[in-house]
Amino acid sequence: MSNIIYFDNNATTKCTQEVFEAMEPYFTKQFGNPSSIYNLGTEVKEEIQKARKNVAKLLNAELDEIIFTSGASESNTTAIMSAVRNNPNKKHIITTKIEHASIMETMKYLKSIGYEVTHLSVDNFGRIDLQQLKKEIRSDTFLISIMMANNEIGNIYPIKEIAEIIKGKDILFHTDATQAVGKIPIDVKNLNINTLAFSGHKVNAPKGVGVLYIKKDTPFVPLIFGHQEKNRRGGTENVPYIIGLGKAVELILEDNYKSSEKIKELRDYFETEIKNNIEDFIIYGDVNNRLCNTSNIAFKGVNAEELLLMLESFNIYVSTGSACNSEIAEPSHVLKACNADMQNYSPIRISIGKYNTKEEVEYVIKTLIKVIRILRKKN
Ligand code: PMP
Repeated sequence: MSNIIYFDNNATTKCTQEVFEAMEPYFTKQFGNPSSIYNLGTEVKEEIQKARKNVAKLLNAELDEIIFTSGASESNTTAIMSAVRNNPNKKHIITTKIEHASIMETMKYLKSIGYEVTHLSVDNFGRIDLQQLKKEIRSDTFLISIMMANNEIGNIYPIKEIAEIIKGKDILFHTDATQAVGKIPIDVKNLNINTLAFSGHKVNAPKGVGVLYIKKDTPFVPLIFGHQEKNRRGGTENVPYIIGLGKAVELILEDNYKSSEKIKELRDYFETEIKNNIEDFIIYGDVNNRLCNTSNIAFKGVNAEELLLMLESFNIYVSTGSACNSEIAEPSHVLKACNADMQNYSPIRISIGKYNTKEEVEYVIKTLIKVIRILRKKN
């Protein structure tokens, strides 16, 4: 067992050694600018195209439908702002209450400059209501942005059904697939979405690289202007990171979601053992329709922050919700939207990754049983 027992893979993942090795030559040896026309540049350009090919294959997209960005936050912002700039006469957007901060904050800004944003509510299990979605669509709705899977509770959302509802209407559909990519198969041809975002660091590639899929013929205005990425994302390409992402995607393609089955087994084993050994806990989210790796779990009367610190003293790393909100001492907006009783049941999020082992899961279970007993006695 390694020293660090890392169970926070929805926050970020470790860069795989193979990915790191694939990136290395592009810092010191093959450092050419892909826009240069001599060999040092063209060779690098070819490698970027290989990475693009892998991403296109993973999503069942066309090569030209993929652009590289600095991460999912940029991809999300780009997709939303492009929709805004392409629809100057329309003012209404539909999203949900449980999106990632990069979507929520973009929406907040748009509201501040006069846009109307409907945030679909969710039920106690974090599910959206498609009937509500249908009712909220207006003649001036130009964009619907709904995530494919939630980072805190792991819920998977019905993207195909939503696309069916939108079909034939003059509305762009964006999905933040950051937590879904690599865990569930995605086929953009089948889904009928206009834009899709994801990030390298959730799939064992480095932080600071991401993808935006832009369906052919989707009207598009860049966020960053320049000639790279066929004029859709300016700035000299982050060559090593793009190549790293290409390698990480190659590993996902080779694995063909076998890891997801293994991870689900570990997650289900964890929850069963908790059930067999600890009383009075709840699991947030839609337990029957979740990502394979996520368990958002709360133990009655146990403060999540205290629990997290206790676990850290045993070298176990989990989160209290979304890492992106951890600097803000506010309760999770996702769990608030689910009407969660966070006073009595404050949750920790356990998110299992490709490199976690059963031995580690057993250690986490054993430690949790011990720690919960101590904390409950103390309070
Ligand atoms: N969307 C979701 C659902 C996420 O979980 C994250 C990362 N926490 C992001 C977007 C942002 O990704 P990045 O860090 O690459 O900007």
